[in-house]
Amino acid sequence: MRAVDLIAKKRDGAALSSSEIRWLIAQYADGMIPDYQMSAWAMAVLWRGMDDRETADLTMAMAESGDMLDLHDIVPLTVDKHSTGGVGDTTTLLLAPMIAAVGLPVAKMSGRGLGFSGGTVDKLESIPGFRTNLSADEFRHALREVGLVIAAQSGDLAPADKKLYALRDVTATVESIPLIAASVMSKKLAAGADCIILDVKYGRGAFMHTLEDARILARTMVAIGKHAGRRVAATISSMQQPLGFAIGNALEVREAVAALRGHGPADLVELCLTLGAQLVRLAGLRDNDAAARSLLQEALTSGTAWQRFHQMIAFQGGDVRTIEDPDRLPIAPVQLNLIAPTPGYVAAIDGQMLGTVCNELGGGRQRKEDRIDPRVGLVLNVKVGDAVHHDTPLVTIHAASIPDAERVLPQLRAAYQIAPTPVTAPPLIEEIVR
Ligand code: URA
Ligand code: CA
Repeated sequence: MRAVDLIAKKRDGAALSSSEIRWLIAQYADGMIPDYQMSAWAMAVLWRGMDDRETADLTMAMAESGDMLDLHDIVPLTVDKHSTGGVGDTTTLLLAPMIAAVGLPVAKMSGRGLGFSGGTVDKLESIPGFRTNLSADEFRHALREVGLVIAAQSGDLAPADKKLYALRDVTATVESIPLIAASVMSKKLAAGADCIILDVKYGRGAFMHTLEDARILARTMVAIGKHAGRRVAATISSMQQPLGFAIGNALEVREAVAALRGHGPADLVELCLTLGAQLVRLAGLRDNDAAARSLLQEALTSGTAWQRFHQMIAFQGGDVRTIEDPDRLPIAPVQLNLIAPTPGYVAAIDGQMLGTVCNELGGGRQRKEDRIDPRVGLVLNVKVGDAVHHDTPLVTIHAASIPDAERVLPQLRAAYQIAPTPVTAPPLIEEIVR
């Protein structure tokens, strides 16, 4: 077999056989197929798509490109959560400790930023000392001791996805239903979770721009998970505007800390209660949403979720003083407000544009080897539906320098639509796929 022939076959719209997909992924994981050929192949998939059988084959080939974790010797059952990627999506930082606090062990491998969307691992690394590169033994030890561990995808886990993910980030090949489904599910299957909640985002700040595409992605992933014998559900949630107020690595840690201490943005907390309730039900702890939600709410109100987060940060080497007093987190030297151009009501906030601005400020990567600046990002002052006056700040830019902040002003201005008459915010949760 030759890579060039498989690229051509997909370019011309044909389906690849199971053995072709397995060969391609194995060769790529082994370094026998170079990045440039894999990029061309990913672009062909993006344009031509894959059928359900190809997507399932791709998922299994990527999952089996490395170790398949089995954590049942440590805990009877583990739960996991994954988002398809959004802007300002601080969910994992809040949800994972809430879930651990109600007694469900969370063994989570998280991603780095992808395209315009942020990644939990990059966010957590803004806490000085916090280690996300854990060995398999360290991962298991943390799970046993704390019941909550969040690590970067280890080199041994779905290594084919790890390579392809980094490549897609910088080759404009993220927005493909089969590539996203296989990427997410290969990691989830390899990481060994028994119960999985998938948060499928749709809207301007997500890779799926329409509800219909989000539904297809959600159903594809749930079907792959069930086929592999896991308990899986998905929520379809809106990224018609960013989640919460903070976008950017350290800024989102700060937002998560506030939420864990009872001052979270309403939309972020609501999404975590919804996602968490599905996990509580999948795990069999409660049999209806109302009971599951009150269990999780209690974990938040009583402070047990915050304690779990604190334990996890300490156990993974993070400086806990920075979460006890978030003013000690890295902070950008420049803060500049964008003022509303006209009075009225916020009608739309383009999350993709905001995510891109955050990247350009240094919060994401332009090339695979780039280092990110944890300090930079955006803090929204208003959300869709809010009234603004002629002097209301729409958003605060956190930048490394004044020229950096000024450079993004035009893009940022274009991300906002202000209407003369009142606007209602779009619903946050569109549906739940079981
Ligand atoms: N999250 C992933 O893990 N992979 C994707 O392709 C998109 C979001
Ligand atoms: Ca946020």
